[in-house]
Amino acid sequence: MQGINAQQRQVARRVDKDDWRSSWMDWKWHVRHSVRDISSFEKLLGVRFPDLERRAFSRTVDKFPMSVTPYYLSLIDPDDYANDPVFRQAFPSPKELEIGRFDMTDPLHEDEDSPAPGITHRYPDRVLFHVSNLCSMYCRHCTRKRKVGDVDSVPSKKTLQQGIEYIRNTPQVRDVLLSGGDPFMLSDERLDWILGELSRIEHIEVVRIGTRMPVVLPYRVTDDLVHMLKQHHPLWLNTHFNHPRELTASSRTALSRLADAGIPLGNQSVLLAGVNDCPRLIKTLNHKLVKNRVRPYYIYQCDLSEGLTHFRTPIAKGMEIMESLRGHTSGFAVPTYVVDAPGGGGKIPVMPNYLLSWGTNKTILRNYEGVITTYAEPESYEPQYCDRNCTDCNLQLKEEDAEEKCVGIEKLLSDWDDTQSLTPAENERMERRTDHDAA
Ligand SMILES: *Cc1c(COP(=O)(O)O)cnc(C)c1O
Ligand code: SF4
Repeated sequence: MQGINAQQRQVARRVDKDDWRSSWMDWKWHVRHSVRDISSFEKLLGVRFPDLERRAFSRTVDKFPMSVTPYYLSLIDPDDYANDPVFRQAFPSPKELEIGRFDMTDPLHEDEDSPAPGITHRYPDRVLFHVSNLCSMYCRHCTRKRKVGDVDSVPSKKTLQQGIEYIRNTPQVRDVLLSGGDPFMLSDERLDWILGELSRIEHIEVVRIGTRMPVVLPYRVTDDLVHMLKQHHPLWLNTHFNHPRELTASSRTALSRLADAGIPLGNQSVLLAGVNDCPRLIKTLNHKLVKNRVRPYYIYQCDLSEGLTHFRTPIAKGMEIMESLRGHTSGFAVPTYVVDAPGGGGKIPVMPNYLLSWGTNKTILRNYEGVITTYAEPESYEPQYCDRNCTDCNLQLKEEDAEEKCVGIEKLLSDWDDTQSLTPAENERMERRTDHDAA
């Protein structure tokens, strides 16, 4: 059995001493044998937890259940499991029960921005479509901890249809992101159906899938699945590697199948204390990813979801990481570091300052080495004054290809809109004005 190491063989035997040879590469076998209780976990890993830990375990899983695939479990080093990055992402910690002062059950307000079942419509032109709330492995750092694993609310075909209907009736949506849970927990047939429905909607230009299967259960990426997916281009896929250890022979095979099918691959990491909060480690991870044709896309600051307090790092750690990447390594190995705004503001990019100062004629910049340099502004520049009438503009953008909407800071910068300032809805000064006018 190619690509299976000694530890995986051992775990496989402990799951099923008769059938393991024929079953290890069968993803459904892993889902069926996902480890959900502490005794099975001990048995498969070959360890024994102290009694205190066993007691804390049951209190934690009552609130946030555990599920680990035998495959992912087999990546844990039994001799130092407590510090193991895979263990920390997979095994409940009693610290999950410590609720921080700023923690929320739905920090990103995904429920409030939901116009139809399973849909989060936050940005002008794209939606998140939760097509499954199951995962083969429940990440301890999951931002949707409150939802994942709730078998009573697995979306039915009818519920999915309502989501598709919303997308069909909302022409400004051009990009649909299938998420969950893990969309690859659905059968090939169900996925094929969803992708087919979406591809028949004229205004949908691109569909993306967010899945952690290449990391936690790479055998899900079967030839059949890949063959089906490639009928639905343009299709993009983002996965979720957090630590270089996770790029095993099996996951590399899964990635290369997807890449060979012409699916552009991206990675979204989460910055996690005690797992990957190290510039050197992230650089190594990103190098391994690009070697496997995966473009690091985002690195997320850990959200304010309940039960994640012990994983949070200061934003400063992310800045340090970004400082260690830009310039030091290939541009395509540098992800965007984002904070997903609590309250539903969406992703906010954060990075070190490279712009040091600005005068009328020169801009002062610094590079990754500390070199301070000047960029001379052009002596003559004829700006294009824009009245949004593309037909009469010499830049030759076809009106029908042009983006309609303009919001936020983009609008403040525009020539054709008179908005001078954006004022928060609950501005006291403005309230006084209205009171005044009314009086
Ligand atoms: C992350 C996210 C998206 C996609 O954002 P991109 O920056 O385009 O990758 C869309 N909708 C919601 C609600 C999201 O959280
Ligand atoms: S660089 Fe330092 S913090 Fe990072 S993995 Fe090595 S020893 Fe740990």
